[in-house]
Amino acid sequence: MTEKKFETEIDTLKKFYEYYCKDKHDNLKKNVVKFSYNNKNYNMQLLLCDECINNIKYSFERLQECKHEIKPRCRNCSQPCYDKTHWKNTAKVMKYSAIRLGLSSIKQKVKNIFK
Ligand SMILES: [Zn+2]
Repeated sequence: MTEKKFETEIDTLKKFYEYYCKDKHDNLKKNVVKFSYNNKNYNMQLLLCDECINNIKYSFERLQECKHEIKPRCRNCSQPCYDKTHWKNTAKVMKYSAIRLGLSSIKQKVKNIFK
């Protein structure tokens, strides 16, 4: 996968995890996660609790090792790389945030139309 695609993936993970964690957990703190992809280094600031930080780090690692040129949706992947527990947890976070973030952006659009 290209760097650009990789960046989109990690940004989405960040957005979804932070949203979920803010709603569900306490003791959020600032973390800086460092990793590299295609010789490019990334420093990502995350506001998450300990549990979510561990989970998102796992997702980043899996993403770095994803062998697909074009990343399939994990659900349809022929070589799933997440273990079952992590996959379930990530799916839960993504579903939760996708619904709420989706709704709020639609509401925002509707608001703008009626301004
Ligand atoms: Zn959390």
